[in-house]
Amino acid sequence: MQVSSYLKLSIAAALATIALKTGAWWLTDSVSLLSDALESLVNLAGAMFALAMVTIAAQPPDDDHPYGHHKAEYFSSGFEGVLIIVAALGIVAAAVERWLNPQPLQALGLGLTLSVLSSGLNGVLAFFMLRTAREHHSMALEGDARHLITDVWTSAGVVAGLLAVGATGWQWLDPLAAIAVAANIVREGVSLIRRSADGLMDRALEPEHREAIDQVLAEFAHPTAIRFDHVVSRRAGARRFVDMHMHMPAGWTLQRAAALRSSVEQALMSAVPGLRASIQLLPNDVEAHFDDARDLL
Ligand SMILES: [Zn+2]
Repeated sequence: MQVSSYLKLSIAAALATIALKTGAWWLTDSVSLLSDALESLVNLAGAMFALAMVTIAAQPPDDDHPYGHHKAEYFSSGFEGVLIIVAALGIVAAAVERWLNPQPLQALGLGLTLSVLSSGLNGVLAFFMLRTAREHHSMALEGDARHLITDVWTSAGVVAGLLAVGATGWQWLDPLAAIAVAANIVREGVSLIRRSADGLMDRALEPEHREAIDQVLAEFAHPTAIRFDHVVSRRAGARRFVDMHMHMPAGWTLQRAAALRSSVEQALMSAVPGLRASIQLLPNDVEAHFDDARDLL
């Protein structure tokens, strides 16, 4: 199944979760179940935004965006991070209010059943979404799946808290669980925002891919004839880029140089999925001036 199909499924699941969790809150009047329901609302907005962004990211390069639209996914992940932090603050406000004015819970058994049911649904969906996100290197889908997993843990904590309230009669466990939920949501939100920032600031490729590139270059390098330097890499959504110099003897024909470059490019692309390599040809004793350290200041 494709990334966009999963996001549509995730929107449907979010709607079902909101219905189930709102029902659970309405039955029990528990503030921690309310916090759980609130988080699903945010998930709905996040999944819709992610779907829009993935649709944009899939568009082919155009005159205004010749490198493609892959970075659009970073907006989705950052936006969702901000949203869930805002939701968490709302939950803390509701929980503090309930802490000061405790109220007895009702119909706990039925409410908890609804909550467990929606968590099971989200857990199964998140498992398949994460797998697809890794296959397609989709940040938007990964962000959405991670949020679903947060939902599942959140709900598990809330259910445990409410079971304890039922067993002990300690009403304050309910707002306490709600605040713990909120803290976890904030943590997840911060990590989503950080990943977005990394993407927007052209973070280098993952270490395993940089190693794969180094290995390929080592195979082609020759102590007296061929040298690679100025190797820099970056990620843009599912796309990966690497730039480098290939230094070779000044007497080589352009044809010979181009043939070697083509072999290096093909080896790099088969070593790292989704890689675009840009290799500049230079004689051994010449360095490109735009790479001089003073230009970086
Ligand atoms: Zn160089």
